[in-house]
Amino acid sequence: MQTHNNKSSTTQQSQPSFESFGLRGYLLRGINELGFSTPSPIQAQSIPIVLKGKDLIAQAQTGTGKTAAFAIPILNKIQRNDSIEALIITPTRELAMQISEEFLKLGRFARIKTICMYGGQSIKRQCDLLKNKPKIMIATPGRLLDHLMNGRIKDFAPKVVVLDESDEMLDMGFLDDIESIFTYLPSDIQTLLFSATMPQAIQDLAMRILHEPEFVKISPVDITNQDIDQKYYIINENERDEAILRLLELESPVKSIIFTRTKKEADILAQKLMESNFNAAALHGDMEQRDRRDVMVRFRQNTIEILVATDVASRGLDISDVSHVFNYHIPLNPESYVHRIGRTGRAGKKGVAITLATPLEFKEIHKIKQSTKATLELCHIEGEADIDSDTLLSKIAALGVSQSSLEHFENLKGHIDPTQLCLKLLSHFIQTQCAKTIGLSKEEIAKLEVRQSSESSTKTQRQNGKKRSSKPRYSNKNITDSIWG
Ligand code: ADP
Ligand code: MG
Repeated sequence: MQTHNNKSSTTQQSQPSFESFGLRGYLLRGINELGFSTPSPIQAQSIPIVLKGKDLIAQAQTGTGKTAAFAIPILNKIQRNDSIEALIITPTRELAMQISEEFLKLGRFARIKTICMYGGQSIKRQCDLLKNKPKIMIATPGRLLDHLMNGRIKDFAPKVVVLDESDEMLDMGFLDDIESIFTYLPSDIQTLLFSATMPQAIQDLAMRILHEPEFVKISPVDITNQDIDQKYYIINENERDEAILRLLELESPVKSIIFTRTKKEADILAQKLMESNFNAAALHGDMEQRDRRDVMVRFRQNTIEILVATDVASRGLDISDVSHVFNYHIPLNPESYVHRIGRTGRAGKKGVAITLATPLEFKEIHKIKQSTKATLELCHIEGEADIDSDTLLSKIAALGVSQSSLEHFENLKGHIDPTQLCLKLLSHFIQTQCAKTIGLSKEEIAKLEVRQSSESSTKTQRQNGKKRSSKPRYSNKNITDSIWG
């Protein structure tokens, strides 16, 4: 058993070229068409292992090119016969389609066919497509198991099986299905497991179904991507929609994804955004398969600029040019945060990740910061409460005095105290000229921060007092230490 460990900060010069893997000519042309010039670190390390026919466990953060890390060596090994040679198991239909597209592009010059098998599509149609003699099958676990249990795929003996986005499959409760799928597969199969994180359950699964695997791990300098500018805003619970609308105006994102916790929230927010003239659409698991695909196509083609999505629907999706990711609520755990913001800042592009948190959720921000070691900048939405007297004075000084106002003032001054009149008009001026305040004031936030830091120092003292601290549910360090030694 061999462990390959590398830093993603490795300089480009130390990366091998695609040519150095001895790949077939048509594949090099496909890689060139996709615009890949150098292999990413996970590709540089995984491709030779897969080409050798070894089982592999590969871990690298999202957006690092894991798809091509298995697609390239698999395509290089494709034989000219009529059977399915590789099976890719992936958590969602959108990912299945995305992977299929990458295979089709890479294998374009050899006209390699793929087939996607996922729930929500007619079983008969999927069986008909099998007659086209695809070489690569990309499937979600549930539907694939259904086909296998009902004996609908004849002579199914792929040589390579890939478990893609394995941690997502764990989260979605697919591990049992995956184990069942393996009972239908030949025992001498080459198995590749790819994942962004390595929770214990995935390590256990790997030990059961892989055979003397090699390990590759690209440990990022930070878990989260350096190209993502991460900010958060502390707001009140009832201000989420207003905050999103204002931030969309302030940031004018080219293309953004807003993550919500529930499907209903996604629908409601998408509707509100459309009413405010934004090109928005919801994407979640309750939607018809056709509608989901339609939304994704339009988002890719930029006719939809804002995707309001739940986690599950958008796991692992690679959409280029997402400039902003918004977290409508704080994500439920640091893992989810990393996955969500990984939808932007992909393939070397810059991105912005904005998280909305209420005072109650403030603690979670602290956990994310600790767990990801990322820098999240606390920001504040400027509003009427922030206007200072100098600005106000200069705004007022710039105004003219009309003839009618002079006349009205003469008539009014006998009826209202001039100070009262002035205060009322000033209030009106501020209300109409300055945006409404959203979120906590700087003073309130400062208080929260003081409370947070005193709470965490008490906690540290308590933990230091204990002999053994209990293991957190998720910590990349623990995960990696146990599997990578
Ligand atoms: P992951 O599965 O690790 O989250 P993907 O396989 O979806 O990442 O790849 C992320 C993006 O990086 C995709 O747009 C892909 O086309 C691009 N990409 C992959 N490999 C390379 C490469 N060698 N050079 C440039 N871009 C790449
Ligand atoms: Mg992926």
